[in-house]
Amino acid sequence: MDPPPSKFVIEASEALALAESAAVTLPELLPTLVPAAQPLARPPISKFSVAAVGLAPSGRIFVGVNLEFPGLPLHHSVHAEQFLITNLSLNAEPHLVSLAVSAAPCGHCRQFLQELRAAADVKILVTSEATAEFRALSDFLPHRFGPHDLLPLEAPLLLEPHHYTLTLQHYLNAHVPNHKLKIAALEAANKSHAPYSGSPSGVALLDCHGNVFKGSYMESAAFNPSLGPVQAALVAFVAGGGGDYDRIVGAALVEMDGAVVKQEHTARLLIHSISPNCQFDTFLCHNNNNNEY
Ligand SMILES: [Zn+2]
Repeated sequence: MDPPPSKFVIEASEALALAESAAVTLPELLPTLVPAAQPLARPPISKFSVAAVGLAPSGRIFVGVNLEFPGLPLHHSVHAEQFLITNLSLNAEPHLVSLAVSAAPCGHCRQFLQELRAAADVKILVTSEATAEFRALSDFLPHRFGPHDLLPLEAPLLLEPHHYTLTLQHYLNAHVPNHKLKIAALEAANKSHAPYSGSPSGVALLDCHGNVFKGSYMESAAFNPSLGPVQAALVAFVAGGGGDYDRIVGAALVEMDGAVVKQEHTARLLIHSISPNCQFDTFLCHNNNNNEY
C-alpha cells in the first residue's frame, strides 16, 4: 500500500493557484498555511505544536513540524524548522527563500539555519507576533558563528549537493539483512552534510507496508544543533504519511568504519524507544575517494 499524499509538500502549480485565489503573493501565502500544519506536529512532552512553512526556489512549499520522543533526553527532539530543512533536503531543493513559523525560532533553530548558503538573507515571519512581517535571519541572529568560521568558502553547505563515495564493506548483526533497506541507507549516507566531523551516515526505515523512508545526517557548525540520521529518516516517515512509529519494522544505519562520530548506539536507542520490535542493522563503509565532503 502506498502512503497517502503528503500534506508536507505543496507543488508549485498548486501553491500558485492557492496564492491567486487568495490574491496574495507566494511569501504572503506562507503564514496562512501555518494553522492547518500545526496539528501535524507530534509533541507529546511539551504539547506545544510548532509548524514552519517554507518557500523553495522552485516555487514549491514545504511544511515542517516538531517531533518529541518520550523516554529519551530532549536533545533527540526535531524542531519544526529542522523538519522543514530536512523536508527540503529530501526533495532536492537547494535553498530556502522564506518561511513562516508559528512561534519565534529558538536559538537552536536560528543556528541550524546558518548552515544554508546566504543564510543571512532567509526571510522569517513569526505568525504569533502582532506585527507579523518578514525579517531577515540576520535580524534574528546577529554576530553569528557559522560554517565559514570552520570551512573554506567553496565547501558545499546544507541543501547543496553532497556526493560521498561510501561503499559497503561488511555489516554487523548479519541476520536477515535487508538489501533494499541497506542500499537506501547507503544512498542517504552519501548525501550527508558532515563537513565538520567527516563522518557521513544515513538511515533507512521500513514500515509494515514495505515502504522505505531514508534520511541523511546533517551537521551544524555549532555541533549540538546537528540532526541525526534517524531523526532525518523519521522526518521522511512522518512527511510520507508513515503513521504511528510502531509501524516501523526495520531500520538500517550506514556509517563509516572507524568514524570519529558514530551513530550506532544512539540510533539503536532512538529506534527501539519508538518501535521496540523494530529490526535494527548497522552496515559499515569505507570512503573510497577520501573526499572531504
Ligand atoms: Zn527550534
